Amino acid sequence: MSANLQTPIDYLKGVGPNRADLLRSELGIQTYQDLINLFPNRYIDRTRYYKINELQRNNAEVQIIGIITGFKEVAQKRGKRLVANFKDESGMMELVWFRGQKWIRENLKVGQPYVIFGKTNWFNGKFSMPHPEIELQKEHENNLRSAMQAIYPSTEKLSNKGVTNKVVSKIMQQLFLETNGRFVETLPNSVISELKLITKSEALFNIHFPKTPELLARAQFRLKFEELFYIQLQLIIKNLIHKSKIKGFAFDKVGDYFNTFYKDHLPFELTNAQKRVLKEIRHDLGSNAQMNRLLQGDVGSGKTIVAFMSILMGLDNGYQCCLMAPTAILSAQHHQGLSELCKTLGISISLLQGSTKTSERKIIHKNLENGSLQILIGTHALLEDKVKFKNLGLAIVDEQHRFGVKQRSKLWHKNELPPNVLVMTATPIPRTLAMSVYGDLDISVIDELPAGRKPIKTVHRYDNNRLKVFKFMKDEIALGRQIYIVYPLIQENETMDYKDLMDGYESVSREFPMPDYQISIVHGKMKPADKEYEMQRFVKGETQIMVATTVIEVGVNVPNASVMIIESAERFGLSQLHQLRGRVGRGAEQSYCILMTSHKLSQDSKTRLETMVRSSDGFEIAEVDLKLRGPGDLMGTQQSGVLNLRIADIVKDKDILEQARYYAKNILKTDPSLASPEHKMILFTYRQMSKFRNIWNYIS
Ligand code: ADP
Ligand code: MG
Repeated sequence: MSANLQTPIDYLKGVGPNRADLLRSELGIQTYQDLINLFPNRYIDRTRYYKINELQRNNAEVQIIGIITGFKEVAQKRGKRLVANFKDESGMMELVWFRGQKWIRENLKVGQPYVIFGKTNWFNGKFSMPHPEIELQKEHENNLRSAMQAIYPSTEKLSNKGVTNKVVSKIMQQLFLETNGRFVETLPNSVISELKLITKSEALFNIHFPKTPELLARAQFRLKFEELFYIQLQLIIKNLIHKSKIKGFAFDKVGDYFNTFYKDHLPFELTNAQKRVLKEIRHDLGSNAQMNRLLQGDVGSGKTIVAFMSILMGLDNGYQCCLMAPTAILSAQHHQGLSELCKTLGISISLLQGSTKTSERKIIHKNLENGSLQILIGTHALLEDKVKFKNLGLAIVDEQHRFGVKQRSKLWHKNELPPNVLVMTATPIPRTLAMSVYGDLDISVIDELPAGRKPIKTVHRYDNNRLKVFKFMKDEIALGRQIYIVYPLIQENETMDYKDLMDGYESVSREFPMPDYQISIVHGKMKPADKEYEMQRFVKGETQIMVATTVIEVGVNVPNASVMIIESAERFGLSQLHQLRGRVGRGAEQSYCILMTSHKLSQDSKTRLETMVRSSDGFEIAEVDLKLRGPGDLMGTQQSGVLNLRIADIVKDKDILEQARYYAKNILKTDPSLASPEHKMILFTYRQMSKFRNIWNYIS
């Protein structure tokens, strides 16, 4: 009889109701299918036997052959422990049980050769092994064992209740028996032969019971490839469906606003990257599928002008547009910057923030609804239900990682038809991650800075060099430049961090006294109006130094600022450091970034600082960041499911991911509906996946 892989795990011989419950609650294993997809964490060599006198005090897992010479019970604080003396020809050690002692006493025999397996402890001058896996040597040899034994994910509860690795391994064997180890192939022949993959059945067998290290490696490759292939397939299909199903507003024409601006008011020549991205956006907006595009561009690459010109395309077609930014400062800055351009073109534009007065709000609401207000800039305040547009055609979200996915999708629902959406981020996302996290968005990249920018010189200085740094600051100020000094501010450490900030402010004030010098200070505890006032003083050049917490991280634009000093730089993440550095280098002069730290640096901190000094390429920095932190901390990964991968690793298996995406794309290009006989199994697997989530194999 061949079993159906959707059979509940309870039916597998050797499982039974208790173990089934445990497997369900602890590992989420409901069916045969789930069990076979329980991939091992690692493998150990079970052909290697240690002698007791070879044991090291390193707590490693070892396997030893020996005999039990006797048992004793030792009273302890609570209850008692059972101890067996265990010896081989080289020495003695102890086996220890805190639970299940009755069963041990009844079943283990003195004087018989056993194989024990587990972690050893060094205690009171001798080695011991608590709760060893133990079986008679005879049985051990009879059991199907490969040189490499799989170690499965487990939990404390599972091992306490006797569902040890050995038990899991046994029921896995049983599953292969009941299914004859034959599983439906899930990849097309063309892919299998081109990549010289092993079959699904071979891969599953060798992932659980590797015959050789080489077969294990091939099994891992094949299963990782398959996992990533189907994720990519899913994302690409989602994107295709989105494009064909979701109608958006088509911006048919390029009209007067755009053309006038382009011909007469463009403040600079666009970079080639900006032109290319505008074309991509124009293409999306001109079609009647809804645009859903991510625009990546390093700080200072000029995303704002691209956003504005996209807005002009919307206005030319009679639609309203909005631009949402994550902070009051940034949205005010956008508003200020765009207002001037709008004035010359005769376009109405307003700013809506949490702090906007009710009387002003009412006017904005009214003008939005009657359509006389063309552009609305703002913060989260745009998402409030009261904010209703007459015909919102394009929604732009700046610095998107500050917004949750939920918040973004709220903007979608402000209309009957979803507006076209452009999401802009200055945090470059490594390609591989972007593929997995945003695979269902279209991606544009501005990979070129405006001409004439000098690369920012970045150095690392220790705190005891502060006097030299002060001297350098004075020289720069004498040249007419402005300077940022940024302090870390972390919620858990807020009180201490504010103290550091204020101490720093005081010492800078002493070193740079009035009236020769003017200093701004901006931090999160200030009232918005005060913050705004201090910001404006700096923007207008009335102050030379801005002391701030990371509130200035995002978007602030003061081209005359040429020095960024980051205090306690070791406490910042790489992408944050890169963002901060991007605040300078916006003008024509040489700019500098000085990373201040104490001498106490962790290895990771050192890597971060070295990376910053070496590189100014946001994508390179993002790659290092991903390696250091793993994908868990990066934006969007939580929702994307890349953290729930069963076997592949988004960072380590980058190359496999690229291959998987390539094949998925090609297959969908030639056969978008997966209708050809050759692709039948892809369609089938894909449908099963959506039906059962994560279902990939079934029995012939
Ligand atoms: P970001 O991508 O970080 O949002 P901005 O849009 O704020 O960058 O642009 C940074 C600065 O570069 C602004 O002062 C902007 O006016 C200027 N800028 C943008 N594009 C160009 C260009 N093609 N040539 C010269 N300067 C430009
Ligand atoms: Mg910006």
